[in-house]
Amino acid sequence: MMSTFVAPVDDILFSLRHVAQADQVEDWDDATATDILKHFGDFAQNVIAPLNATGDHEGAQLADGRVQMPAGFTIAYQQLIDDGWQGLSAPQAYGGAGVSVLIAAGVSEIFSGANHSLQMVCNLVPGAITTLRLFATSEQQALWIPRLASGEYLSTMCLTEPAAGSDLSAIKCKAVQSDNGWVLSGEKIFISGGDQNLSQGIMHLVLARSGGAGIGGLSLFLCPSQPAARVTRIENKLGLHASPTCQMLFDQASAELVGEEGAGLKAMFKLMNHARIDVALQGVAHASHAAAQALRYASERKQGRTVEGQAAWLTDHADVRRMLDEQQVLAIGARAMCHIALVESQLGSSPSLVEFLTSVCKVVGSEAGIRSADLGIQILGGYGYLTEYGMDQIWRDARITAIYEGANGIHERTLVTRGLRSGSGAEEFAALVTVLAEGDSVVNACVAHWLSVVEKLRASDNPDTQAHAFFDLTQELLQRAVWLRIARVARHHSDAEAIHWLAATVLQPVVL
Ligand SMILES: Cc1cc2nc3c(=O)[nH]c(=O)nc-3n(C[C@H](O)[C@H](O)[C@H](O)COP(=O)(O)OP(=O)(O)OC[C@H]3O[C@@H](n4cnc5c(N)ncnc54)[C@H](O)[C@@H]3O)c2cc1C
Repeated sequence: MMSTFVAPVDDILFSLRHVAQADQVEDWDDATATDILKHFGDFAQNVIAPLNATGDHEGAQLADGRVQMPAGFTIAYQQLIDDGWQGLSAPQAYGGAGVSVLIAAGVSEIFSGANHSLQMVCNLVPGAITTLRLFATSEQQALWIPRLASGEYLSTMCLTEPAAGSDLSAIKCKAVQSDNGWVLSGEKIFISGGDQNLSQGIMHLVLARSGGAGIGGLSLFLCPSQPAARVTRIENKLGLHASPTCQMLFDQASAELVGEEGAGLKAMFKLMNHARIDVALQGVAHASHAAAQALRYASERKQGRTVEGQAAWLTDHADVRRMLDEQQVLAIGARAMCHIALVESQLGSSPSLVEFLTSVCKVVGSEAGIRSADLGIQILGGYGYLTEYGMDQIWRDARITAIYEGANGIHERTLVTRGLRSGSGAEEFAALVTVLAEGDSVVNACVAHWLSVVEKLRASDNPDTQAHAFFDLTQELLQRAVWLRIARVARHHSDAEAIHWLAATVLQPVVL
């Protein structure tokens, strides 16, 4: 049995429709969502997923200064753009399909489950379009958004430098204005898709220093691919072998300022916030894929005896069932959180709540993917440790999600500092949890306790030391509330009994 990807279309629709109640959002169209997710699911299964293992094996290569993607990737990309998937959520005025962000999130999850490496290279585009719409001039929008929506161009996000990883205030890449416009000089590292042979061009969004020290000296620049912005090396890494992680040299590369000078980080945050929920969904995708693979394997492998003494399938063993259940809980629960956060962001009434939820989802989603893949390896036993079934690739590819787009520890720290101090995100979070739980007495008691912890942390001089513990408390609370909602709407799922069972494992855990 080789790795086979089955797009979890029904689970995604169940989560969007019934758990996150997507119909609260004005542009939600149920029939369109069903149609698009089914079509993309077929495309992912037939075109993208078959390249996942071969891409991992072959990897992206740097030859004569240009990145070559593994065999089959250029053809798949051509199909992707011919079918209009790159412009799915771009406005129709710019040649996109203008579909809801919620549908695009479902597509993105399927894409990541089928082939995370290719998704990485293609899926910075929606965030880049949002950033251009918010900060670029109308001329820049008119020129660049259609190029991105059509797939003629892909985009990158160029932040990291050797001495500026998590701490972007240390960025050195320099932007200087001359008579001919801005030029960029400096080095960037770890840039996903810094070059590839899929699109005709690349639009790099670069954070560079146009002013003095610190964050206020950073501006955002749009830098089209050109000889002066070249890849000097691609990294060898644990996973995502088909996603080129590039070291780039900007050597007097001409660029355009996007937005106001000195407001680069603010603009980049728009792109990063989009990418953070997308990373959470990458985790969900891995959690779900690993769960499906493990269930299939465990249902087909005979090993040992049942308590009645009959030949047993792996699924007959209580401990294997426990692990399979945990995988499902991880995938369904984290997906629900992401969808709830996305619905809140589309409703637009609580920006601080969305910011709070984004950090929670980033950590929960990424940890879910890694943990589920790890459980998958255990369920497959020795075969999980081999490469034959692809569980190792899911684990290796998932592992980065806890590191990029803000390492998880930084998100936990953000929650306990900015998350509690700016706006009313914490209070709105408590209100959301209460609504999801609909009067559950355990949740009500936990919310009261959680709010008292919030007050203590707000008064603390050094809340950092409590960040991880506070995150655990927060995610346990959200997890319980989300599963109460899932249990209440389980009847809408094609396997309502299974959903009720999983909800029970969360809501009534075995305590001895
Ligand atoms: C496959 C891959 C793809 C990537 N793609 C891109 C891309 O497209 N564009 C881009 O710009 N970058 C990209 N990156 C870079 C990525 O975002 C950084 O690796 C990440 O921000 C961490 O920076 P660092 O590696 O320098 O680790 P460091 O900043 O040195 O941090 C190391 C560890 O220390 C801890 N830590 C650091 N600071 C803090 C803090 N303030 N509070 C708490 N804990 C902390 C965290 O646990 C962290 O994991 C990519 C990286 C990889 C590996």
